[in-house]
Amino acid sequence: MTLNYIATPAYRLVEEFKEDPDKIYSYIESIYQRIRLVEERILAYITLRSIDEVFKDIDRVVENYKKSKKRSYRLFGIAIAVKDNISTKGIRTTCASKILENYVPPYDATVIERLKYEGAIVIGKTNMDEFAMGSTTENSAFFPTRNPWDTTRVPGGSSGGSAAALAAGEATLALGSDTGGSIRCPAAFTATYGLKPTYGLVSRYGLVAYASSLDQIGPMARNTIDLAMLLTVIAGHDPRDSTSLRIAGIDYVKELKYLVGTRPKLRLGILKELVEVSEEPIQKVFMNVVDRLCTEHTCNYISIPYPKQILAAYYIVAMAEASSNLARYDGVRYGIKSDVNNRNWVDVYTEIRTKGFGYEVKKRVALGAYILSAGYRDMYYLKALRIRRMLKEYFNKVFNEYDLVLSPTMPVLPPRLGEMLEDPLKMYFMDINTVIANLIGAPAISIPIGFVQGLPVGLQAMSKPLNESILLYFSYIVEELQGIHDMVAPV
Ligand code: GLN
Repeated sequence: MTLNYIATPAYRLVEEFKEDPDKIYSYIESIYQRIRLVEERILAYITLRSIDEVFKDIDRVVENYKKSKKRSYRLFGIAIAVKDNISTKGIRTTCASKILENYVPPYDATVIERLKYEGAIVIGKTNMDEFAMGSTTENSAFFPTRNPWDTTRVPGGSSGGSAAALAAGEATLALGSDTGGSIRCPAAFTATYGLKPTYGLVSRYGLVAYASSLDQIGPMARNTIDLAMLLTVIAGHDPRDSTSLRIAGIDYVKELKYLVGTRPKLRLGILKELVEVSEEPIQKVFMNVVDRLCTEHTCNYISIPYPKQILAAYYIVAMAEASSNLARYDGVRYGIKSDVNNRNWVDVYTEIRTKGFGYEVKKRVALGAYILSAGYRDMYYLKALRIRRMLKEYFNKVFNEYDLVLSPTMPVLPPRLGEMLEDPLKMYFMDINTVIANLIGAPAISIPIGFVQGLPVGLQAMSKPLNESILLYFSYIVEELQGIHDMVAPV
């Protein structure tokens, strides 16, 4: 069997490679060929490893595989692109920021250790909005990534490089991080699948913090089974992350197969306000899918309380946490350096941060400090926390009645490059549908459901915490229904 390696799902490749590990080399060769062909126009990677280095990794993985076949090697030989805010030992990790431009971590994030254990090959680090602050990948200090479906448009963000790498066929799987939608937004804009796990399901050890109470690492892929496979590998308790949940590892692929076999009926809630805020062509594609789903599953409209306050609450919490997390970038231990001889501390600190941070990051650090300052804390921060708690309580009730709640992932189509930079509030507004899951700690997925004038549209499903299996089952149903999977954009 000859494989078109570029678009083949990871779960098929792994089977092939286990029979004949030598095939991994030609697979990697074709991924690199593809990268050489399209990367110039996409700019998905900040750091791409050399193929020789990658081949050396494969030598090691194959040798270990032959020695200990007892291990599962769930991702044997699979090329994975990793967002550049996840620590990779010996591979530069910049967060798309000048302040970390030359930072090479001395350790692997837990998720990277797990990938390696299962035989995956990290081929490069992907572009993002600086410190994951943004929804277009234009806030990168280096360059903006292009949407493979239309290179005059953004791929979404902040995990835009990971999504673009998948959609352009420059990797088979990818990791992103999601604080307020950063996995789901680019997934929706590139016709890929992305899942933001329950808070605490995936270890944050080695993830560069943006807003610690909202951040989660999650899987990105071109089909549901691959997504389940990658989640299986990265999820599970980690003593090095104090917020990691104490639960045993789950085989999501197995659970998915069981659910697909038994086909339980689902109770679906349609989030009325979030449909209404979406652009009309998006509403159309979305409602079309919903109508078809509702012939088999139960559907009802539901309302969300305080739709206007949710986004404000998110940005207040995110900025407050960011200002405290980013205080550590002082140029002393890592990142850019300055001449410290005979200078006072404040001058050095100011110089490093003025040079090292981009505009959006500075703005958020300043606003975050303001939000937390005496006198304003009660007015903004504590109020936001109250909204967060009320939202959680509301959705606890919703999830007693509904298995999943649905909305479009993004209320808009992928914007043109530069369009959102002119109007930051418009950019923040794009996150209205995605931030809820992070505020309440629930898992959410984005599933590709169609195209409007050649531009991808995504559907978001959210469930109660730790119900990832149901989300994946639902994703599989929609994947069957719409037939959008394993797509590589004709760049
Ligand atoms: N766009 C949102 C923000 O800028 C979400 C980013 C993210 O999820 N990392 O905060």
